[in-house]
Amino acid sequence: MRALQYLLIGCFIWLVSCKEISIPQPNPTSTQSNNNNTNSNTNPNPTNTSTSWALTTAQGKEAYDEFVKLVFKDSGGRDKNVAKWTDAKPQILVFLDGSKDPNITKALEGIFVELKAINKVNAFSFTSKAADASIIINRATFEEHNAKYTSAKSPSSGLAGFTTYTYNSMSGITNATIWLNISLAANNAQYILRHEFSHALGLSHTSNTNSIMFATANIYYKTASYSALDSKIIEILSDKRIRQGMTLKDADPIIKEYLK
Ligand SMILES: [Zn+2]
Repeated sequence: MRALQYLLIGCFIWLVSCKEISIPQPNPTSTQSNNNNTNSNTNPNPTNTSTSWALTTAQGKEAYDEFVKLVFKDSGGRDKNVAKWTDAKPQILVFLDGSKDPNITKALEGIFVELKAINKVNAFSFTSKAADASIIINRATFEEHNAKYTSAKSPSSGLAGFTTYTYNSMSGITNATIWLNISLAANNAQYILRHEFSHALGLSHTSNTNSIMFATANIYYKTASYSALDSKIIEILSDKRIRQGMTLKDADPIIKEYLK
C-alpha cells in the first residue's frame, strides 16, 4: 500500500483540458460550416439505424473513426492518450451551482439516466454539497463564472458552455467544472449540457455532424438522447480494460471487439 501511494504521488502531474462549444447563430442562414452538413433535420443519424457495428459496415467504420477522434485526439487534432474516470469511482456526484432552473435539473437527470444505460461502470447523481462533488455545473454569466471558478475560466463570453477537467496521469479524471452560459434558454440547454457533460467524461471534438461532440451547436442534431453513435463511443470508453493513459495501439483490439 505504501508503494502504491508513493507511485501515485510520484505521478501527480495535473493537466487541464479545456473544451468549448460555440453558441449557435440565431439566424440559421447566417451559420457557416455546420449549415451544409445535411439536407434533412428529420433523421440526423441515417447511418445509425441498422444494428450492425461491424467494421466492414459504414456504421462500424464511422464508430471506429469517431472513437479515435474523440478519445485519442485533443481539440487541436493532436494525438493524446485515454483520459477517463476511474472504475474505482462507481458513483460520481454532480453539484449544480449558479442560477437554478427546474428545466436544467430535469435535463441533467435525463442525461444521468441515459448514461446509466451506456456506461455500466460510473453512475452519476446529484449532491447538494459542492464539497462532495466531482463535477460542478455552474449556470451563470461569463463574469460570474470566471470570478468564482478561477481555475476553470472560460476563454470567451460568447460560448454556450465550457468544460475544464483535471486528471491524474495514473488514476484518471478527478474532477470537472462545466460553465453553462446563463443566456441559454433553460429549455434549450439539454443539447449543450449533453455535449459539455461528454467533455467531462473525457471526450474531445469531432467534425462529424452526427456526433454530439461536433463543436458548433448543430441545428440539425436534435435527438432527445445520445445517438446510437454517441452511445457506442461512451460504451466502449467505459470498458474497464480501456485504461487511463492507454495508447490507441494498446486499446485497438478492445475497441474492435465492439465493432463486430
Ligand atoms: Zn465542446
